[in-house]
Amino acid sequence: MNTPLLISPVRAFSDNYIWVIHNQRYAAVIDPGDAGPVHDFLIQNNLTLCGILITHHHADHTGGITELVRTCHVPVFGPATENIPRMDHPLTEAETVHLAPLQLTLQVIEVPGHTLGHIAYFGHGWLFSGDTLFGCGCGRLFEGTPAQMLTSLEKLCQLPAGTQVFCAHEYTLDNIAFALTVEPDNPVLRTRSQQDHERIANHQPTLPSSLGLEMATNPFLRCNEPTVRQYVQHLAGNNINHPVEIFSHLRQMKNHFHLS
Ligand code: ZN
Ligand code: FE
Repeated sequence: MNTPLLISPVRAFSDNYIWVIHNQRYAAVIDPGDAGPVHDFLIQNNLTLCGILITHHHADHTGGITELVRTCHVPVFGPATENIPRMDHPLTEAETVHLAPLQLTLQVIEVPGHTLGHIAYFGHGWLFSGDTLFGCGCGRLFEGTPAQMLTSLEKLCQLPAGTQVFCAHEYTLDNIAFALTVEPDNPVLRTRSQQDHERIANHQPTLPSSLGLEMATNPFLRCNEPTVRQYVQHLAGNNINHPVEIFSHLRQMKNHFHLS
């Protein structure tokens, strides 16, 4: 019988999550920006590392690879078009990652926007979305265009609504505050706001969320909704109609949004 797989968050820096998939014997890590907290978690839980999965090249996602590989000699998977330290398994669209010790199989989804090579991993009902899709938000456009990012987000929305979403940062409350300025009367968003404030007050992660919840509350996935379109048009002009333009303005508004 297969041992069920568990997922645990390991916190790093101020707001990163390094997700650890394990079966109480072996473990794989996603985006280990820092080796220290990963090592501590492995030791505390008596786990042997068997693989490292990377979503994109930013240091807060890759900074721990070299140290982990030095001590654990495990394969490093990541986006083929990005420069990832120690990567020996470059991945492209629709390829799969299989880690036999975990009986884990994840499918690669290319999601350019935050960076040009950014990939997400999907399988077992889970989505590891890196810095592409956040709880109630999305990543900044450091390398890609708004059209690329919107296409990437729409691609993720094709996955089953029950998919659990594991993001690489705890940004949910800030994102909810912005979302509430866009859709103050969205009842699902208001309920989510309450729940996630409680989670943070109890020192719990707001993640995973689900794709269904994201589609009901995340303004960046709702560029076709009249409420979201009207909000953007009200601030930026009635001539703005195309979903890419709506998305682009929304992303810029979020960049300049600060809690008062
Ligand atoms: Zn990043
Ligand atoms: Fe990041």
